[in-house]
Amino acid sequence: MPAVDQYTEWEWILMGIAELSTNHSIRPAVELSMSAQTMYDKCVTLARNLWWTWQPDVINLFRDLDPIRWRQLDHNPVALLAEMTPERLEARVAELALQSRINQAYRRLKEYLSERPLWARTNAGVLGSKPVAYFSLEYGVHESVPIYSGGLGVLSGDHCKSASDLGVPLVAIGLFYDQGYFKQHLTVDGWQEEEYIDVDVTKLPLDLVTDAQGKPIIITLETRTSRLMAKVWQMRVGRVNIYLLDTDVEGNSPEDRELTSRLYGGDNRTRIRQELVAGVGGVRVLRALGIKPGVYHLNEGHSAFAVLEVIREKMMDDGLSFDEAFREVRQCTVFTTHTPVPAGHDRFDAGLVEEHLGPLRDALGISHETLMGLGRVEPSRMDEPFCMTVLALKCSRKANAVSALHGRVTRQMWSSLFSWRVEDEVPIGHITNGVHIPSWLAWQMKLLYDRYFPDRWFERMGEPEVWQAIYNVDPGELWETHLTLKNQLLAFVRRRVSRQCRRRNEPDEVIEAARTILDPNILTIGFARRFATYKRAPLILHDIDRLARIVNDPQRPVQFIFSGKAHPRDTAGKEFIKAIANLRHDPRFAKRIVFIEDYDINVCRHMIQGVDVWLNTPRRPLEASGTSGQKAVLNGALHFSVLDGWWAEAYDGSNGFAIGHGATHRSEHVQDARDAESFYHVLETQVIPEFYDQDADGLPRRWVLRMMNSISSLAWRFSSHRMVADYVRLAYLPAACGTSAEMPR
Ligand SMILES: *Cc1c(COP(=O)(O)O)cnc(C)c1O
Repeated sequence: MPAVDQYTEWEWILMGIAELSTNHSIRPAVELSMSAQTMYDKCVTLARNLWWTWQPDVINLFRDLDPIRWRQLDHNPVALLAEMTPERLEARVAELALQSRINQAYRRLKEYLSERPLWARTNAGVLGSKPVAYFSLEYGVHESVPIYSGGLGVLSGDHCKSASDLGVPLVAIGLFYDQGYFKQHLTVDGWQEEEYIDVDVTKLPLDLVTDAQGKPIIITLETRTSRLMAKVWQMRVGRVNIYLLDTDVEGNSPEDRELTSRLYGGDNRTRIRQELVAGVGGVRVLRALGIKPGVYHLNEGHSAFAVLEVIREKMMDDGLSFDEAFREVRQCTVFTTHTPVPAGHDRFDAGLVEEHLGPLRDALGISHETLMGLGRVEPSRMDEPFCMTVLALKCSRKANAVSALHGRVTRQMWSSLFSWRVEDEVPIGHITNGVHIPSWLAWQMKLLYDRYFPDRWFERMGEPEVWQAIYNVDPGELWETHLTLKNQLLAFVRRRVSRQCRRRNEPDEVIEAARTILDPNILTIGFARRFATYKRAPLILHDIDRLARIVNDPQRPVQFIFSGKAHPRDTAGKEFIKAIANLRHDPRFAKRIVFIEDYDINVCRHMIQGVDVWLNTPRRPLEASGTSGQKAVLNGALHFSVLDGWWAEAYDGSNGFAIGHGATHRSEHVQDARDAESFYHVLETQVIPEFYDQDADGLPRRWVLRMMNSISSLAWRFSSHRMVADYVRLAYLPAACGTSAEMPR
């Protein structure tokens, strides 16, 4: 029997709860094991805080509980545990000796939640009593919670994760879509079909938010024509809470109950109603919870109505006039704009605005024209619709774009709003996007870095010095680790492609062929993102014969993996998918170019961790930042991209490959032809020769050096830890304290 002092503190508490014994000094050995129920409850606690999504050992723990169901259930531990009884769990834990891993994971979660990291204590102290309220209409935290469509959502998720890791006081607001974004299937001839599946909220890590009496909190919103109600879900992401409004409430009309069913699902009327719920409703949630933010961060203009509600609160609470309240609220509001593409900026006509904002406008005591003016570049132009981006720009102290180039483009785009200033003085700066390293770095890579990087490097991953240690890594080991990940990706692709063929009832030989598709020795290029047309996925098809020669070169062949969804109403985007997916019917490409259906965080993770090269071919300057390439470079892939978005400021000649020279031509046609030519040329003269230049042991030394240059110069700089730290320094603290800080241009 172990001595009493060998128990951990936590086991003591547990035994107390389980009432195993009233006498702590004498304890029979058999009672040492946790009860099945306690073990089960610990697993549930772990599953209900999405902190686990960036803890490889907790992910592995869940997987080990039932590897097959784990995969089938989209890596959703809440759903997995719902299928298991405590007894079944206990049997599995005994079989694999998982008990100490459960205990350790649980203890680490408790520690994580109770400590306040040093960084926040020294750098974000004032925000403690004045947290940041972060508004976003999508959150991509994990594939099992499908309330995101693409980069914007994943960025919000990564922002929350880094805020949590750094200890930045932040609460997040969004909507709960019970059908999420759609699932994508392709027909035999490559046409995208959308399927909407009701997700079962009991299988998600969401808790209904209740008041002190245990009654669900219900938010009410008046429009001119109806009364809208919403309940609120709480989702935990480490130390950060995300509150999600949901209009599926008894008492709402059937139509309104479905208002928040789908992300980007409906028409303009659905859209303004969703934005009313998220913005105005979101502020009411904070009030109901007793949270008094010091900073409002509008992540995209979608949620900008929030500002109007905060002004109303200020007028009511402090007896201010509209103008006084407006000035005060403006001082503590920051706004991030994410796209120069016009369709990305919501515009509503006057009728829709009056119907939905009318009652709030009455409370603010302003006229219809004054309100409309807040959403117009030219307030007196009666035919100008109400633009959410304009509202956000007018109501924030400072706006920022998401890369240096995007900053320049955005200042130009909105210069007429600030017509009294020269363009260089438009109050729009930039904070370049980054990605959450613990979520996107393969654990195999992390183990390798652990061995060569300074102690506790994981707590200093935003510091450049840490990453210099990559040059100490043995090149052979780095390459081997990459090959392991590449093989994992190819196995994943084969599984998915053969499943796709089965679902389409294709002949057995087609399904069989999918099991051997792609070759681990071949240079492998990945391309995956939303199939928005400006992202130009089919650019590589510009000269199809040249592509065929490149792909089928007998000595130095190339293969491609594609994935991505088009917006359901984007016919041109769907044509792009079709063009790529149908290459499998062309014998020249059948074994060398594949399309993975239903792009999501899971597919993304496999791809960015396993490819040799990550390709991005946007039409400059429309890619505001892009983040998938940042995920890829962490894992040793080389970025091969048009000099747009983040790559325009990141590429230095030795840390990846560039398409074009950063010029933009007036004619899209000319621009596309030039970029395609550059793509082929750089591929043929730089990428392929360097990849296949391998020594006697098969080690491509020059390539591995480029991998090291890429990791050391890019990983820390394009991490969301660096990004959130920049937001704190350059946006949140100035907003909370009323000081000014120079944001880079
Ligand atoms: C990271 C990510 C994106 C962003 O990709 P871009 O390169 O910025 O277009 C989109 N979708 C998913 C699922 C992602 O994980």
